[in-house]
Amino acid sequence: MHYKRILLKLSGEALMGDLQYGIDPVRLQEYAQDIKAIIAKGVEVAIVIGGGNIFRGVAGASRGMDRVQGDHMGMLATVINGLALQSALEDEDIPVRLQSAIKINEVAEPFIRRKAMRHLEKGRVVIFGGGTGNPYFTTDSAAVLRAIEIKADVILKGTRVDGIYSSDPEKNSDATKFDDISFDDVLRKGLKVMDTTAFTLSQENELPIIVFDMNTRGNLMKVVMGEKIGTKVNL
Ligand code: UDP
Repeated sequence: MHYKRILLKLSGEALMGDLQYGIDPVRLQEYAQDIKAIIAKGVEVAIVIGGGNIFRGVAGASRGMDRVQGDHMGMLATVINGLALQSALEDEDIPVRLQSAIKINEVAEPFIRRKAMRHLEKGRVVIFGGGTGNPYFTTDSAAVLRAIEIKADVILKGTRVDGIYSSDPEKNSDATKFDDISFDDVLRKGLKVMDTTAFTLSQENELPIIVFDMNTRGNLMKVVMGEKIGTKVNL
């Protein structure tokens, strides 16, 4: 295996599958099976899950809601997704621990870094819910933060697009895909990989990011085996 410990970032929207809202159980099961396959190879898997399929603080604020309370709703949404993912993984007989950045002890363990690392060493998947626990941040920032904390080798950003393009491939047919790109070039070209806070945190800590299409079965395995799919952002 090319990577020993990975941090997989899944957006909330990824869990919607073909639905307009909420969680698609079929998609969830597919993800769980793909994750099971890499665990069988001995990869340690931590996951940060988004909440955009349920609620985003900015969307609430644009309709007059207090931003901080909206962000609290968004963070709770990530815990809901985390529970759904935990359940799907357990259905595949994978040991899992959901840790939350917001204390919600009856539902999830509190985030404790050393405990999380111990779970990983024992072959358990650790899902980090609740984002960073702070408003005005995103789950991409949480993904980078947790990846650095647990000393992950790489962040795998699973999306529905198969990498980083020169422009939006869903809008421009002449958009070209990068196989490798530097952090500096992403910033220079104004490409969108993660929000700036998350992206610069990753750059400053020399943590590579691979953007890949998580919705094609088997891709996760290919990425952790070092196959060149998606786009790798490196120094
Ligand atoms: N959020 C937050 N702090 C964090 C992470 C998330 O306040 O550290 C809130 C924020 O409102 C955000 C929502 O949770 O819009 C859902 O997270 P995100 O938008 O990152 O989810 P994704 O786009 O990955 O589905």
